[in-house]
Amino acid sequence: MMRLLVPLLAGFLSMAVQMATQAAAQDWATVTTPSPGPTQSIGFYTAGCLQGAVALPLEGPGYEAIRISRNRYWGQPVIVDFITTLAEKIRAAGQPHLYIGDIGQPRGGPAPSGHASHQVGLDADIWFERQPGARRAPTDRENPRLRSLVRGDDSGIDDTVFSQQHVTLLRTAAEMPHLDRMFVNKWIKERLCHTTTGNRAWLRKLVPWYGHDEHFHIRLYCPPGNPQCQPQASYPDDDGCGEALDAWFRKAPITPPPPGAPPPKPYRPKLPTACQAVLQAR
Ligand SMILES: [Zn+2]
Repeated sequence: MMRLLVPLLAGFLSMAVQMATQAAAQDWATVTTPSPGPTQSIGFYTAGCLQGAVALPLEGPGYEAIRISRNRYWGQPVIVDFITTLAEKIRAAGQPHLYIGDIGQPRGGPAPSGHASHQVGLDADIWFERQPGARRAPTDRENPRLRSLVRGDDSGIDDTVFSQQHVTLLRTAAEMPHLDRMFVNKWIKERLCHTTTGNRAWLRKLVPWYGHDEHFHIRLYCPPGNPQCQPQASYPDDDGCGEALDAWFRKAPITPPPPGAPPPKPYRPKLPTACQAVLQAR
């Protein structure tokens, strides 16, 4: 009897452990409402949470939020202001409205898919794709066409998609207050480094990163009055068009995992202790 029970029990135990880990992994994504209390970013962009998040209105002058079912349109008031102000500027410049993607989950924290950051309500993704004409119903915004500005073989900018509108969009965002940095694909940075004349100071804010060819990512500074928000280290003061950019062109391409390989483990950073209260608050 014992001989039979031990493996059974062991199997059951390992299953229980597995289930508990899975439950923990899903927590931040399954809480559907923000926590009460004043807005506070706690921790770092890639390992933190957000108390008292506010929602981006799902549409407004010059923009619409896409993929709303992900429930990642929550953030700090400063990022909501940034997005709505940018959208108004872009509309005033005569451009079609913007697609706004993920900001963060209702209480921030790690997301089960998509990105490592966006955890403290100060990151947001803005897509390069536009939808000219009338705004569509939220249900029609779940799976829009989202073209890349970079050619499929990663050999340079796709000039059938890239236009002056993108330059104006990036420059407008880069020159706004509260912006720490923006992440863009190396080819986008390279194109702007080679074509920008006159004032080049804004180029500094465009930091190359993997991907970011279909959208760019804005990251704002920790707002005043958020003592638990951990700022990111600064980066060079120049336009970033020299060695910092060249280094990206020497990196080996990321090779996709072989077919049948186990899916990568979800990113589970260690969060500040204060985030537990944010997660559990009712
Ligand atoms: Zn992002």
